[in-house]
Amino acid sequence: MLKSKQDLSNREQIIDAASQLAGWGLLPATSGNLSMRNDQAITITVSGKHKAHLTTEDFLEIDLEGKAIDSSGKKPSAETLLHTQLYKFFPETQAVFHVHSPASVIISKYLGANKELRLENYELLKALSGIETHAHIEVLPIFANTQNIRLLAEEVKQFLQVKSDIHAYLIEGHGLYSWGRSAAEVVRQIEALEVLMNCELELIKLNKGIH
Ligand SMILES: [Zn+2]
Repeated sequence: MLKSKQDLSNREQIIDAASQLAGWGLLPATSGNLSMRNDQAITITVSGKHKAHLTTEDFLEIDLEGKAIDSSGKKPSAETLLHTQLYKFFPETQAVFHVHSPASVIISKYLGANKELRLENYELLKALSGIETHAHIEVLPIFANTQNIRLLAEEVKQFLQVKSDIHAYLIEGHGLYSWGRSAAEVVRQIEALEVLMNCELELIKLNKGIH
């Protein structure tokens, strides 16, 4: 049930963001999930819907523990925990978007789980929130894919406790999570990272890759 203007606004912002990301081919075949926070409530997409064609009904509200707090009877997706942990770990986070983008799938399979993708010396790194120079080194950890989301969330947490100055992470053969203070910020980061991962893949093909 929609309770406030803010809820509706978050749903509309997610619909806009999802149709942009889906238009770039980053949310194929009903994959991915997107959420935004409003105080203690989180609005998240229900699973099984193509993200290019979301309506305001394709959402539910959950709390910071991932429990549904609306009366719609909709079930949160299994990956909800990966969203809530980012809201808890980074209190300033207002949006968490997860895509199954081709470049994130290919490069994470190429490098493998428990490795890192290092992006450096790219002007486009400045599209990442707070980064002001191409000299920045962005590290994207790669976690092993699993259906055990609790285990995955624990691994993400352990990584963040050591290194929290990242904008995204990869799951091997699966996709990418990114977060930020607004929907526009996260869309910008995902677009930039997709371009940069494709640059890395092209460099690897030219035998110029750094990995
Ligand atoms: Zn996924």
